[in-house]
Amino acid sequence: MSTPDISANILILSPPEGAQILPADVVKTLRGIDFIGNSYPESDERDFHPGTKLMHHLTFLGCSPALALGEPGINGDQYCHIELLGPLQQPQLILGQNRKPMVCPHCHQRSRPHEIVAQQWHCPHCRQATPLSAINWRKSGGYGHFFIKVWGIFESEAVPGDALRKGLSSLSEGEPWRYFYYRGAPF
Ligand SMILES: [Zn+2]
Repeated sequence: MSTPDISANILILSPPEGAQILPADVVKTLRGIDFIGNSYPESDERDFHPGTKLMHHLTFLGCSPALALGEPGINGDQYCHIELLGPLQQPQLILGQNRKPMVCPHCHQRSRPHEIVAQQWHCPHCRQATPLSAINWRKSGGYGHFFIKVWGIFESEAVPGDALRKGLSSLSEGEPWRYFYYRGAPF
């Protein structure tokens, strides 16, 4: 018996800062392109089975995409399902074990993101503060009020396809959504 892998691998999509997102609109849009299927009954329309066209809306970069289709509690946290998080009262910072060094927009030096307090980050080199919303997390983290979590996607394994991006940007006045990858404890 091998030790179960407790880390989750999640592709996360997030709207541009300031966009007012209603979960019902997101559900309608994702269902319209068959990215999501039925919700899990106990999830109150927050957690969904993959839609039949999910694989069409993700561009897999490897030669043999592996997507675990299963059920919660049976296949652990690696199985693919789609979960909505938000809108949150306070913006949340999501950083996993796959986080990359941060690049200070003031002095351009790199450092680990360990000195994050409140909604600002203080660069250990030049000591200048940067709002978390202004940091380029380089697809390894995100900060915001709303997230779509696509469980079971490994880092850089797949990117959102055109129809998915277009559908989501129609919910934010044409402004594109960001995406990033999370590897770490399930949340
Ligand atoms: Zn700096």
